[in-house]
Amino acid sequence: MSKYASTDPTTGTVVAKFETESDEQVMASLSAADAAYRTWRTTEVAERASVLQRVADLHRERETELAELMTLEMGKPIAQARGEVKLSASIFEYYATKGQDLLADEELDIAGSGRALVRTAPIGALVGVMPWNFPYYQVARFVAPNLLLGNTILLKHASNCPQQALAIEAMLRDAGSPEGVYRNIFASSDQIADLIADPRIQGVSLTGSERAGSIIGQLAGKHMKKAVLELGGSDPFIVLAGADLGDAVAAAVPGRFGNAGQACTSSKRMIVDASVWDEFLDGFVSAAQSWSMGDPTDPATRLGPMSSVGGRDEIAEQVADAVSKGATVHLGGSVPDGDGAYYPATVLSGVTPDMRAYREELFGPVAVLHKVDSTDAAIDLANDSPFGLGSAVFTTDDTEAAYVADRLDVGMVGINTTIKSAPDMPFGGVKTSGIGRELGRFGLDEFANKKLVRTL
Ligand code: NDP
Repeated sequence: MSKYASTDPTTGTVVAKFETESDEQVMASLSAADAAYRTWRTTEVAERASVLQRVADLHRERETELAELMTLEMGKPIAQARGEVKLSASIFEYYATKGQDLLADEELDIAGSGRALVRTAPIGALVGVMPWNFPYYQVARFVAPNLLLGNTILLKHASNCPQQALAIEAMLRDAGSPEGVYRNIFASSDQIADLIADPRIQGVSLTGSERAGSIIGQLAGKHMKKAVLELGGSDPFIVLAGADLGDAVAAAVPGRFGNAGQACTSSKRMIVDASVWDEFLDGFVSAAQSWSMGDPTDPATRLGPMSSVGGRDEIAEQVADAVSKGATVHLGGSVPDGDGAYYPATVLSGVTPDMRAYREELFGPVAVLHKVDSTDAAIDLANDSPFGLGSAVFTTDDTEAAYVADRLDVGMVGINTTIKSAPDMPFGGVKTSGIGRELGRFGLDEFANKKLVRTL
């Protein structure tokens, strides 16, 4: 039985199914990726870049079709889905236009005679394992730098977005990428393990849960393959005394409820100084009320369903656990009647370490607000998490902002802003949020052979 299926999260109806590939099919794709690498690696950078530019153009030409598939398969409100397609196009375009510069040899200032330079070279065929929450963007940030570099790719997308997986493959094909350079594979977990073990695969990139990241990381370690892991987050959003509360609320609410809260860098924990607690709480709850659940195909809808009933049930259990142990519900907090994977915008306070909601990632539209009595207490609470991905600090005091930014154990800090991914800025975290960086020149280096070329 195939696990690859499109299920409409507003109804739970399965609308399309796709067969999981046979072992022979997966191995044939691997042979094609390995063969393609031999010519793709030496294809002119300008030619590789022109394929990426055409992929960017195709995202723009097909925006409506791509966005509608996203809304169908994982329930993202159509306006947000269009935004993601535009962002994905800009990632392909960034690597297409900056490619020549990013891949330029780096001359080293050496003590000895002669010259030493570092060439940024490809390493071979790679496996990508990608999630459903940003189905085009997550693929774009892995695929664009690696195709620019000259690597080739086998892409296993999440089992609940097969039509988007095929739409991406079609764009790569229609953009003129040679046979074998990019292949979608409807693969099982066992087949992914076989690929990682195969000597023709040189690396693997996964975005998803810590569970999947740990499995893939172990396989990569066992077979000595490079791995990039982009996992969960429980981003702190710190509001200090003297912050502009209008700005803070305006950033925190979409930062938490966009994409129905299903983002690794959602602002999941609002950590608020006691001096501004009442005002921030009132403003936050009142703004969150306007995020009412609706039909994701309606351009006015901001909060659609979650991607699956399973995901919705998980967040409902995390909330129920917190409430049963004494958390306060300021908004939402219960599963609505009717079909679909809906969960309302929910605001909790009084969340303590004995509750699941304190330590676990809340991958849905549930905000937790914590009150603290000092800047150091805010930092301690922010760092009291297994995760270390993004963060935000709202303050009008630059010295205080720098103080907090230096002390947060995270990969990204926003000062008076939330972290919004951009093609030219690194993205990634520390602790259980993962290993490595994506995007910008940092993402390009992850699966590169930084080859020393020495001349006397
Ligand atoms: P998963 O980590 O299970 O799925 C992400 C991708 O990994 C999918 O393509 C999935 O395939 C694949 N995968 C899972 N296990 C394996 C394996 N053993 N071998 C190879 N591939 C594997 O996430 P879920 O969709 O189950 O979501 C669960 C939770 O993970 C969320 O609630 C959230 O906390 C976190 N998550 C974080 C994301 C992020 O952006 N950091 C993205 C998605 C999830 P398949 O779909 O076929 O199982």
